[in-house]
Amino acid sequence: MNRYDVVVVGAGPAGATAARRCSLFGLSTLLIEAKKLPRHKLCGGAVTEKALAELGFALDHDLIESEIYGVTVSTTKVPPFTTRSNRRIMVLVSRDKFDHFLANKAADAGAEVLDGERVVGVRVNNEDVSIKTDGREIHSKIVIGADGINSTVARETGLRERVRKALCMVTEVNVDVAQITDPRLIRLYFGVVKNGYGWIFPKRYRLNIGVGSPHLRSQVFHEFIGRLDLGLDFSKPMAYHTPIWRKGEFATKRTMLAGDAAGFVDAFTGEGICYAIKSGRLCAETALEAVASGEYCSTLKNYARRCCQEIGAELRLAYWMNKIMSLNYDWCLGIGRGDPTVANKFLDVIRGNATYKELLQHLMVRVPVMELKHLSSRFGKQKATFK
Ligand SMILES: Cc1cc2nc3c(=O)[nH]c(=O)nc-3n(C[C@H](O)[C@H](O)[C@H](O)COP(=O)(O)OP(=O)(O)OC[C@H]3O[C@@H](n4cnc5c(N)ncnc54)[C@H](O)[C@@H]3O)c2cc1C
Repeated sequence: MNRYDVVVVGAGPAGATAARRCSLFGLSTLLIEAKKLPRHKLCGGAVTEKALAELGFALDHDLIESEIYGVTVSTTKVPPFTTRSNRRIMVLVSRDKFDHFLANKAADAGAEVLDGERVVGVRVNNEDVSIKTDGREIHSKIVIGADGINSTVARETGLRERVRKALCMVTEVNVDVAQITDPRLIRLYFGVVKNGYGWIFPKRYRLNIGVGSPHLRSQVFHEFIGRLDLGLDFSKPMAYHTPIWRKGEFATKRTMLAGDAAGFVDAFTGEGICYAIKSGRLCAETALEAVASGEYCSTLKNYARRCCQEIGAELRLAYWMNKIMSLNYDWCLGIGRGDPTVANKFLDVIRGNATYKELLQHLMVRVPVMELKHLSSRFGKQKATFK
């Protein structure tokens, strides 16, 4: 068959979710992936509780490499401090297996999966969309571009011409993780690079170590690895770009963008999987409405509006959080170190139990209290020395 209700381009978390949900809605759906599945994807593999909640089904236990309950944070000046929770905040996975699992879920729901075939052209016509792969031509009522940061669908349809990006470099090393670090904690290193951070994620049998920032250079990454002084034999680092949220156009009259193709990544934490899954769901809901009503243009415009409200508002705050933090990492982390309620609120944001807005509101109350305490303790000390 070469006619579908929906063609989804790209079988990452965004595309697999969109395809699964479209099929569950009864829409004839084709999911096209350029690479043969399972395919490698450079990533930290952190899937937060809020991302898992968006999935709408449980992950196979085998896919979970570690369960994370806390974060150890430091800067080059502030010594490490740890915030733990009795509730899980995220799991760590291997993206090749995780993404393959999601694509299989889409197939189980009834989506046709065509892997190893790249989409090279997309043309929006009055009545449908023509999609050219390197092997065939397909027609569809709607196309969902979930084809990552270098989206062909976005380029072909004139969407998102200006993309803001950060560079991430990652290395991995096979080790007995429990011998080196607490496998229930991730480590974040601020001050390594402007507007970004370094991380150590403890997976089942290996450490995933990386740095991400719009200003990252390979020298900074190597200095970071050197400073960790772990004495381990790291794999050759690999680098890939991740987009940074920017308000833009996410839909034409017959196409929608989801996940990295739309730039839905948190500029503060680098989290993209949750927003990929969420936007995949929004795309599917919009596709159902459009096909059912026959009103494509106005319904797809509504997708763009929902993205701005349900995803963009939070990502815009994440962007500003990142900017504010980078003005003075030591001062900001000093607040988290000095006030456990702030650090716990941050964990709540990662877990999905609080929003950035709530974190900022909490900070507006706590920071003046902490500064007053700080001043009064300094004043007390001065009085003591005058005696
Ligand atoms: C180094 C690094 C570490 C990261 N760590 C984390 C993390 O720990 N947690 C987190 O939440 N996020 C992380 N991210 C971000 C996260 O990886 C992305 O936000 C997420 O993968 C987006 O999912 P997606 O489905 O939109 O796109 P992708 O996962 O990129 O999938 C897009 C798919 O489209 C396919 N494709 C591309 N072009 C075509 C074409 N023309 N035709 C057909 N198929 C095509 C690709 O092969 C790919 O399979 C990280 C990113 C990087 C770079």
